[in-house]
Amino acid sequence: MYIDSHCHINFPELAARMPEILAKMAENQVTHALCVSVDLPDFPQVLALARQYPHIYASVGVHPDYEDTPEPSVEQLVQLADDPKIIAIGETGLDYFRLEGDLEWQRERFRTHIKASRLTRKPLIIHTRSASEDTIRIMREEGAGTEAGGVAGVMHCFTESLEVARAAIEMGFYISFSGIVTFKSAKDLQAVALELPLERILIETDSPYLAPVPFRGRMNEPGFVAHVGEYIAKLKGVSVEQVAEQTTANFRTLFNVPA
Ligand SMILES: [Zn+2]
Ligand SMILES: [Zn+2]
Repeated sequence: MYIDSHCHINFPELAARMPEILAKMAENQVTHALCVSVDLPDFPQVLALARQYPHIYASVGVHPDYEDTPEPSVEQLVQLADDPKIIAIGETGLDYFRLEGDLEWQRERFRTHIKASRLTRKPLIIHTRSASEDTIRIMREEGAGTEAGGVAGVMHCFTESLEVARAAIEMGFYISFSGIVTFKSAKDLQAVALELPLERILIETDSPYLAPVPFRGRMNEPGFVAHVGEYIAKLKGVSVEQVAEQTTANFRTLFNVPA
């Protein structure tokens, strides 16, 4: 049994195919998926999906790539997170790859999410791209980690170095691998996955993006997370069952959702 720790099934191309998506999840033994918010206008839809389907959890947050969108306040995030199906704050973080110029607003928005995570005691879903130094620095400054009184979270769709992964793990974070890890070109990332203990790893699709091999280039969906799990099992030389069980247990521990 797998859990997809990060997907965007509220995006129209997936939301229109919900029955099919749930069937594919069942077929691949994917019991649950976490539908991650990217902005406030879409949040009601995300929450509605989580309320409608027992297999779907959700988060609340505003993605760092969304520039022209209502800015969340700490109070607003805390209030919107007050629902049993909202199990995380995010996705949040920094992205210096997609956007350029003065990105102080991204860092401020990231700090707002960390404050909301500390207040709600719900873990963070962190997106970081070409910004790992500032990401780790702000996580430390705002006390995101368990050692600083935070509740930690997950570094999602991880593509950074082993050093960055270890810095995050030291703060109590988990590292989540997407279909990228299955790509032939991802040798460095595969080396990172090989080094990290299975006890700190989550798996995700980030669907509709980033379909894993053998579906690369097609529209991704939560059922395909099984292929990420299978790849990690092969990479680490352990059984598929072990990866499925451990990543599922990790998800349940981090997000505080009993089986
Ligand atoms: Zn992301
Ligand atoms: Zn995402």
